[in-house]
Amino acid sequence: MRFDRRQFLKAGAAGATMAGLAGCAGMPGSSKARVVVVGGGYGGATAAKYIRMLDPSIEVILVEPNEAFVSCPISNFVLGGFKTMAEITTPYSGLERSHGVKIVRDTATAIDVEKKQVRLSRGDPISYDRVIVAPGIDFMLEALPGMGSAEAQSNVLHAWKAGPQTAALRRQLEAMPDGGTYALSMPEAPYRCPPGPYERACLVAAYFKAAKPKSKVLLLDANADVTSKGPLFKKAWAELYKDIIEYRPNSKAVDVDWRNNTVKLEFSDVKAAVLNVLPPMKAGAIAAPFITANKRWCEVDWLTYESKAAKGVHVIGDSLQIAPLMPKSATMANNQGKVCAAAVVALLNGEAPNPSPTLINTCYSAVSNKLAIHVASVHKYDEKDRTMKTVPGAGGVSPAMNEPEMGYTMNWAANIWADTLT
Ligand SMILES: Cc1cc2nc3c(=O)[nH]c(=O)nc-3n(C[C@H](O)[C@H](O)[C@H](O)COP(=O)(O)OP(=O)(O)OC[C@H]3O[C@@H](n4cnc5c(N)ncnc54)[C@H](O)[C@@H]3O)c2cc1C
Repeated sequence: MRFDRRQFLKAGAAGATMAGLAGCAGMPGSSKARVVVVGGGYGGATAAKYIRMLDPSIEVILVEPNEAFVSCPISNFVLGGFKTMAEITTPYSGLERSHGVKIVRDTATAIDVEKKQVRLSRGDPISYDRVIVAPGIDFMLEALPGMGSAEAQSNVLHAWKAGPQTAALRRQLEAMPDGGTYALSMPEAPYRCPPGPYERACLVAAYFKAAKPKSKVLLLDANADVTSKGPLFKKAWAELYKDIIEYRPNSKAVDVDWRNNTVKLEFSDVKAAVLNVLPPMKAGAIAAPFITANKRWCEVDWLTYESKAAKGVHVIGDSLQIAPLMPKSATMANNQGKVCAAAVVALLNGEAPNPSPTLINTCYSAVSNKLAIHVASVHKYDEKDRTMKTVPGAGGVSPAMNEPEMGYTMNWAANIWADTLT
């Protein structure tokens, strides 16, 4: 029993189109097996595409509420006014057209591991043989009680999921009078994209330097020191933004008074013209039943990405409990998507997964609209400890900020967007 792919594409049609899908997986006459992927970000979209590439007889359904993919990487350039939202947006249609991934525009509300079904907000449940859960992160708003209301959340933005908040924060920065302070509050590690807040401080400062030279960037870091590429970022702040960026370590936010644009730290309050708060983070809500570490993250078998909490459920991307020195990054989610896809295809064909997977990470960061830096690492499966470990001597950091790195940054983005979505 097959269903019409055109049925899945239009917003609002999910309820009608999904009727009859419960019970399809593995039935005679259908595909060999069905994989449902929840979340079409760097991890999920990559996994969906690569399963189809590796074994076209497996049916892949990708559940994603957003109409198009909006990239977090390069979104800090939008805040600085150096890129547009259109330049960081890619349609999902390539996954369907080139790879036969069926896209259901809906939100998964639960994963029923007994019935092997993904329940949806609007449509009927979808049965699966295996499900890949890749919802990225959600925010621990309970750590900042003042952020609990919708009003607070629409005034004090995170812009840590690229999309409408990215455009809204850019508007706040544009509206800020020259001489104002933009305060960026960041949480203790682990959080999505270790160098991301430091890059954001640089690109907003680059905007101020050109357009609002009396304005300040105040970076309130809950950590004791810069968590990624520290010497390189500090050099950039000293050489490019001496009178603009102020870095304050050990500045953990404990609450937000959104009416007064004030973030409350443990021992002081900071009021800003534009307040940008990144709350502490945890696995995306749909992955909650598979959280096994610190009430925040999902542990998996690194050979297959199968959850330690449920069979037939695989988790990839930022929702994972990271292995030592593994960043929560787009490159990493994209790599994990491929390893997971290969493992799922092997398991569905009765074969053993690769016993020795390797992941490679490169994180580029802009320090201005012209100069960039990077850090790279290689992570290999360790059979004895059953975890991923960095390969000594592989990878490293840029010797200095420079212009060629900006070219590599943009090439990296173009490549990963093509690899994930086309
Ligand atoms: C400002 C910023 C800059 C960054 N820069 C870089 C960089 O330069 N390099 C780099 O490698 N990384 C960078 N990152 C990190 C990178 O964006 C993340 O690590 C990456 O997006 C993680 O991929 P993911 O698939 O886990 O999550 P995401 O890419 O966030 O995808 C999750 C998807 O799941 C969907 N979803 C969530 N819940 C549900 C549900 N219930 N049902 C259906 N769908 C659902 C969401 O809509 C979303 O599309 C940056 C992040 C930020 C915020």
